[in-house]
Amino acid sequence: MALVVKKFGGSSVATTEKILAVAQRILSEKNSDDKIVVVVSAMGKTTDNLLTLASDIDSEPYKADYLRELDMLLTTGEQVSIALLAMAFKKLGHPAISLTGAQVGMKTNSVHTKGRILDIKPKRVHEELNRGNIVVVAGFQGADSLGDPVTLGRGGSDTSAVALAGALKADECEIFTDVDGVYSADPRIVKSARKMKEITYFEMLEMARLGAGVMQPRSVEMGQFFNIPIHVRSTFTKDSGTIIREDYTVEEKDFEIRGVAHDTKVAKISVLGVPNSPGIAHTLFQSLADANIDVDMIVQSIRNIDRDINDIVFTIALHDLPEAKKVIAVVSEKINAITVLFEEDMAKVSIVGAGMLGSPGVAARMFGALARADVNIDIISTSEISVSCLVKGSQVTEAVNSIHDEFFPDK
Ligand code: ASP
Ligand code: MG
Repeated sequence: MALVVKKFGGSSVATTEKILAVAQRILSEKNSDDKIVVVVSAMGKTTDNLLTLASDIDSEPYKADYLRELDMLLTTGEQVSIALLAMAFKKLGHPAISLTGAQVGMKTNSVHTKGRILDIKPKRVHEELNRGNIVVVAGFQGADSLGDPVTLGRGGSDTSAVALAGALKADECEIFTDVDGVYSADPRIVKSARKMKEITYFEMLEMARLGAGVMQPRSVEMGQFFNIPIHVRSTFTKDSGTIIREDYTVEEKDFEIRGVAHDTKVAKISVLGVPNSPGIAHTLFQSLADANIDVDMIVQSIRNIDRDINDIVFTIALHDLPEAKKVIAVVSEKINAITVLFEEDMAKVSIVGAGMLGSPGVAARMFGALARADVNIDIISTSEISVSCLVKGSQVTEAVNSIHDEFFPDK
């Protein structure tokens, strides 16, 4: 007997035919004594469509005053898909029950639209499984101490599934999606990208953080925390995909890096000509922090020894740019900046791999690959297991391909 949590994303349940196909597949692969929990997202583009409705009421639906209502709205998407999937199981002759986040004991904080899971007490799930039901759970949602619905951030169903698998002490968490695994680079832009059999939580987390869109980063953190293997695989084929786990178990060819990630949703801000004196960086970045804006790469350099002024250049997520512009308009006067430049057409390309620890020259090879592709490097940053370069957004395809060719030459 196995207890397995299976998560199906929006594209896998986009129509009622697809919902019936998901139910059919699950039943055909189920051993008679297996306990199955299915976590689903909203059908197709439902969440986006609900957000469009909200913006018809106010063009800025993410205002603080609306966030609770947005969650009330968005959680309806998953409620539709769980009801239909539970009906599909019954139609095919298997008992099933649908449950919301609140009903499975998914306790969150009250940070609406960006909630975090505090605790899960899945007593009801165990009871329903023991009654012989397949339990169909709404992803992306929990409830706070008042019982109000709270969503977990876009893509949050992955996190719901992995966290629930952890709380249930499941044997495995399977994430069914429209790609068949995790690749060494985005296969849509790199033809020779390779599917990995396995990747560690540590490396996957870094890949996800640096832009690999397969999994919500927080779901990988959850997997690591509970030590639940996560199997990322295709909804449309039976082939096995990529298993994210603590350590490698199979002998994979020894690459120094595991993958190339890229992120095109990056904006660059250059605050030019500020006094070279204590407190300037603090004032600038504190005002961004106060507005809840995450700053990523930062470079400060002395521009002019004679006049003793600095340039501070940094990157943020593109969606934070409108808010950042407001903040910077105020703070740049306070710190006497000569001028501020904003650039939207930027991309961050990164290499990731625990193998680069103690393997000198990896960064130099990445820079060489960018030089060969005639891509200029704007900012460089590193972590223990990654190196990232900021480049022009229009050159991201060349950049990623050239780096991938360097580290994953065709056999
Ligand atoms: N339906 C939610 C979204 O579109 C959650 C998810 O799909 O994971 O973000
Ligand atoms: Mg998703």
